[in-house]
Amino acid sequence: MDTQKFSPIYSLIVPVYNEEETLLELYRRVSSVMDSLDGAGELILVNDGSRDNSLYLMRGLQQDDPRVSYLGLARNFGHQTAVTAGLNFARGEVIIVLDADLQDPPELIPRMLEKWRQGYEVVYAQRTKRKKESWFKRYTAYIFYRLLKRLADVDIPADTGDFCLMDRRVVNVLNQMPERNRYIRGLRAWIGFRQTAVKFERDPRFAGEVKYTFRKSLSLAINSLVSFSRVPLRLSTYLGLLSAGLSFIMAFLVLYWRLYQPKSPITGFATIMIAIFFLGSVQLISIGILGEYIGRIYEEVKGRPLYTISEIGGFDEKR
Ligand code: UDP
Ligand code: MG
Repeated sequence: MDTQKFSPIYSLIVPVYNEEETLLELYRRVSSVMDSLDGAGELILVNDGSRDNSLYLMRGLQQDDPRVSYLGLARNFGHQTAVTAGLNFARGEVIIVLDADLQDPPELIPRMLEKWRQGYEVVYAQRTKRKKESWFKRYTAYIFYRLLKRLADVDIPADTGDFCLMDRRVVNVLNQMPERNRYIRGLRAWIGFRQTAVKFERDPRFAGEVKYTFRKSLSLAINSLVSFSRVPLRLSTYLGLLSAGLSFIMAFLVLYWRLYQPKSPITGFATIMIAIFFLGSVQLISIGILGEYIGRIYEEVKGRPLYTISEIGGFDEKR
């Protein structure tokens, strides 16, 4: 029916949140990489509710270059959701996800494709070095990835971000996963297939501020732990057992003092206060951990769509 069916081989997905300063440079570098590829490519820009001129720039890019299309999410849904939207719309046989700020060099793509041609379905980029990022970010990231590796049920490779290449088959599985809390690196590892790494040095941001605030990073970290591990739940059981053990010892001591050392200087008030605070905090921590899991059940049960789209460009014409 449709004569102009556009079927690219390579889909590049870029989530964009307030990146007006980097977009044109990103386009320049990505399009020169696309030119060098042996097949047709498409660039899908996903506007994650930017408050600057990003969407405006995308419209322009799409008009000038038929390989570019864009999705405008109706508000800021977060990086992982923006990538998910892009994956839902990608049409290529190979899908590559990269950041808009050029911290993920597009020039690495040919090397990733080489691995794909060797038969790997997932090729993730692994950072050997982070240039010009704060020591705080580097250390917290370092500790987090090691912690996640120990706790998670699946083997999520350390120091990898969302910069990766995925075969169509992998993306199809990913698109079928209904969960709302999408820690894509984790889901990607969970899916399996043949996976391999390509090492690279992470460049500093091309321009603009980091869009992942401390709060967003922390919430991503908690998300990934809760989505991929039940160890925190078990932790509260252990905590309970520990405090039960301690209270047993305490009961024994208190009885002993009461019966045999009536003049003991250790009298009621301090002991009671400490016991109350200690038990109170153990209980609150346990409830908090439980709450993390229950909150996620609540999110899943509501079954809302993952995102809403308010504008779309460059998909219909080519379909
Ligand atoms: N981003 C997004 N939505 C957000 C935050 C970030 O789409 O709510 C995009 C951002 O535009 C960039 C990528 O996610 O393309 C990574 O963001 P950033 O560079 O700030 O994070 P970091 O380099 O610390 O991972
Ligand atoms: Mg960045």
